[in-house]
Amino acid sequence: MKKHIVLLPGDGIGPEVTGEAVKVLRMAARCYGGDIEFQEALVGGAAYEAAGDPLPEETLDLCREADAIFLGAVGGPKWASIPADKRPEAGLLRLRKELGLYANLRPVRLFPELAGLSCLRPDIVAQGLDLLVVRELTGDVYFGQPAGEEVRDGLRHAFNNMIYNEEEIRRIARIGFDAARQRKKRLCSVDKANVLASSRLWREVVEETHRDYPEVELSHMYVDNCAMQLVLRPDQFDVILTGNLFGDILSDEAAALAGSLGLLPSASLSGLAGTGGAGLYEPIHGSAPDIAGQDRANPLAAILAAAMLLDLALGLKEAAKGVEEAVRLTLREGYRSADLARPGEKTTGCSRMGDLVADRLE
Ligand code: NAD
Repeated sequence: MKKHIVLLPGDGIGPEVTGEAVKVLRMAARCYGGDIEFQEALVGGAAYEAAGDPLPEETLDLCREADAIFLGAVGGPKWASIPADKRPEAGLLRLRKELGLYANLRPVRLFPELAGLSCLRPDIVAQGLDLLVVRELTGDVYFGQPAGEEVRDGLRHAFNNMIYNEEEIRRIARIGFDAARQRKKRLCSVDKANVLASSRLWREVVEETHRDYPEVELSHMYVDNCAMQLVLRPDQFDVILTGNLFGDILSDEAAALAGSLGLLPSASLSGLAGTGGAGLYEPIHGSAPDIAGQDRANPLAAILAAAMLLDLALGLKEAAKGVEEAVRLTLREGYRSADLARPGEKTTGCSRMGDLVADRLE
């Protein structure tokens, strides 16, 4: 059956890296027998320019009907001073919320060929880095009510509410355990249960959910310790399961370990693979206005996001593995986009990098 993918190239380098991801998706479909059709829609600054809205109703309708959504990136200095609800990033936040994309999956892997790019000591890098951060994306302190500002006893106060209900915790815990079951079967749940009531409920519900996944080894870690362990011994982690705020911070820290923003993909889902609506697949980087339009962007994060789409949205696991292997081969053969090159090393442009991966896939 034909699968319908909505492309949201967005702003800055978004269209450039999306073009390369599409190149690779088309090749993957040809080599592995998928039947894919693409439809492009506006989001972010591009949508604001064309329709006065960073998430036009037409785009949202198309996304609701899609089997998967692929996003490049949104944002840029051009839209920094327009009203907050019209900014490109507001379009993306609304899209996540409208589609109920509560589970953010961010794999962090260090390709051995790029070990020199990691900020970690070589002896730590040598132990390996291959983990998955599963972050809750639609709850916690970012959305909890009441939140606001008020004057109490003559002093300005501001407050947010770190709140989770048990169902919100249970559904993200299931995503985490399910992912661990398909990896090395280890899940570390990260919280601050020594201090926070919401973390204590988090821990309780994660323990309850664990009963359905006896084959997965569960551990708990406080978030401050986790931040430290990520740089001391990242190889101890397989799946890290955590809430929205802690996940926001830890996933960026983990990303820094891999060497470049241009290498890391992510998926945002509304349920276990194959059971929810359309997921959103995107590189973790932004629109990189400083290099936009110069063929200097690294498309590998977008291409690896396309691999996640093949696996999780279309069930084409072999095709996904093929894409990852093609990326590895391209790196092993020494091709480097500007962000991956050492000083003086020859660099490969965005479009050529996409061609190389597609050729190797073939
Ligand atoms: P950024 O990720 O766009 O760029 C940070 C740095 O990394 C820049 O020097 C950039 O050149 C480099 N970089 C990023 N991606 C790269 C790639 N694929 N290849 C090579 N180099 C790459 O972050 P920023 O500069 O803080 O933000 C720029 C805009 O992007 C802002 O408007 C921000 O709000 C937006 N943003 C969007 C998303 C998204 O669409 N999901 C995510 C983050 C930031």
